[in-house]
Amino acid sequence: MKTRRTTLKAVAAGLALGFALLAPHAQAQDKGLIGVAMPTKTSSRWIADGNSMVKALADRGYKADLQYADDDIPNQLAQIENMITKGVKVLVIAAIDGTTLSNALQKAADKGIKVVAYDRLIVGSKNVDYYATFDNFQVGVLQAQAIEKALGLKEGKGPFNIELFGGSADDNNAFFFYDGAMSILQPYIDKGKLVVRSNQLGMNKVSTLRWDGAVAQARMDNLLSAYYGKARVDAVLSPYDGLSIGILSSLKGVGYGTAALPFPHVTGQDAEVPSIKSMIRKEQGSTVFKDTRELAKVTAGMVDAMLSGKKVEINDTKTYNNKVKVVPSYLLKPVSVDLSNYKHILVDSGYIKEEQLK
Ligand code: BGC
Repeated sequence: MKTRRTTLKAVAAGLALGFALLAPHAQAQDKGLIGVAMPTKTSSRWIADGNSMVKALADRGYKADLQYADDDIPNQLAQIENMITKGVKVLVIAAIDGTTLSNALQKAADKGIKVVAYDRLIVGSKNVDYYATFDNFQVGVLQAQAIEKALGLKEGKGPFNIELFGGSADDNNAFFFYDGAMSILQPYIDKGKLVVRSNQLGMNKVSTLRWDGAVAQARMDNLLSAYYGKARVDAVLSPYDGLSIGILSSLKGVGYGTAALPFPHVTGQDAEVPSIKSMIRKEQGSTVFKDTRELAKVTAGMVDAMLSGKKVEINDTKTYNNKVKVVPSYLLKPVSVDLSNYKHILVDSGYIKEEQLK
């Protein structure tokens, strides 16, 4: 009897929860249209961001005009101008090139449209109201710490060979990732415990336009043939999973991935499925997970607070100077992921389904 009652209770609770989950959509008060401009569908993280934004906005009663720009700057600009014409109330923008939107944002401001920079800072414009992102410096720190741990640098091991990759130089985040990583790696380079045989250091030498994996693969091919005749590369700093996969292809091409020539520790970012699969095959060494579901929730919260005259929640008012002003920001925490914790962090939280990894 007791069990039955418990079961009934559970069913009732389940139903109530179901209604509660459905309720915001069912009510779907029309609080207005929000423009959501995303850079590209070539990386699954941005697809997840877009879907989560549509859901998080719907949960608060807003409709989303979600657009992807195929990593093409004029295309994104046209999409944003179109959103302004349609009369969106707020623009949420993950910029392809953070420097090219000033005129469009002025038009938006003239019409009273607010702007949230999503994940990537928009620079050179005063018309950026808020910034929702992760602690981007910390992303780089985590990547470098994964290398530090894999090589045993803290225990004094070395010297080891390392090569460095940076993200797209038109993305402000790329500099934060690189600087964060170098805050850990530079002291080992200075002591000779890490050696960059190519001597290619600094974002002006190591950046990868448009975060393109093929560009990273070609650069890695060149590095291996020019600087690694008989020598072996022990670690590669890669700021994004899509680059890591390209770098690993290049390494495989010259015979890495055997007992005699093991893969270097290759880092990454975004916890994308191909990279987690690569990790399971013992190829990619680590990645950094940024929960895009949380980012979308924070952003939708900012949108709603702005439009209903409430206080917008921020936790950083110092870090993100966009060359015109310091943009008030909310920074989420990135998490380091490797073979030891991917199940817990990614699968148990429902971010990736177990079947996707088969
Ligand atoms: C994002 C990263 C992503 C990269 C490439 C950056 O702006 O913060 O998460 O890996 O763009 O898409």
